[in-house]
Amino acid sequence: MTSRSFCAVIQELNSEIRKPVILFYLILRGLDTIEDDMTIPIEKKVPLLVNFHQTIFEKGWKFLESGPEEKDAPLLRQFDIIIDEFLSLDRKFQEHIATTTKEMGSGMAMHAKAAAENGFTIETKAEYNRYCYYVAGLVGIGLSLLFSESHLEDHIVSKSRNLSLNMGLMLQKTNIIRDLAEDLTENRIFWPKEIWSKYCKDIHELQLPEKREDALNCISEMVADALEHAKGSLAYLSLLRTQSVFNFCAIPQVMALKTLALIYRNPNMITKNVKIRRGQSARVCSRL
Ligand code: MG
Repeated sequence: MTSRSFCAVIQELNSEIRKPVILFYLILRGLDTIEDDMTIPIEKKVPLLVNFHQTIFEKGWKFLESGPEEKDAPLLRQFDIIIDEFLSLDRKFQEHIATTTKEMGSGMAMHAKAAAENGFTIETKAEYNRYCYYVAGLVGIGLSLLFSESHLEDHIVSKSRNLSLNMGLMLQKTNIIRDLAEDLTENRIFWPKEIWSKYCKDIHELQLPEKREDALNCISEMVADALEHAKGSLAYLSLLRTQSVFNFCAIPQVMALKTLALIYRNPNMITKNVKIRRGQSARVCSRL
């Protein structure tokens, strides 16, 4: 989710949960900024990622060595402020945030190491699911822990890990499908080879006019794969009983479904980024 849409939906949340959710988001954003920064040498990056769940308890910690291209570098430069706020949270919220950060940090470190050794590739659908689990599925699981801890939601919500992770997986996979053109330009391939290799020898071939039908069939298969999470995501939403929490979770899911509908067999998305217009997003939000 973009920062802008996140800011819009977070206003909806009840005050007892708003601050833990904001800090959870900012901490994971800090972690992700380290993961994405290709100027940090791998031997330095791995311990930063693996230990981040402990770093967030170190008063005064900040990181000044981000690469010049990192748009979120200011977040890490002033991370001491985030740590102060994090330490002011109820202990239980701190623990849930740290648990999720620990699992995400070690998953990111594992992928960063593999990428440094062999280049970043996603071969199988199982690898694709594992990657999406670490970078997004865990967000849904962590949020559920916070919702139940606040008593705005029942404990069944945090215990339903399998349903929770569908929320993040559906958002992540939607973005991965939508961003194909942009990622191909930068030579980052997140589409699993197990799927695209049925349609071409090199994924860049999908952009050739003579491969249009193959490209559309490949998009269909990618969209069908993302939609496998829709049922789990709807089942998760049906567990929620607080309106603001429901809106916070449902709005991004509805937007993801709308995006999938837009890019399904859409030849434009192969060569350029296709996005839902802001007016349409506003209508989604006002209907909930
Ligand atoms: Mg990242």
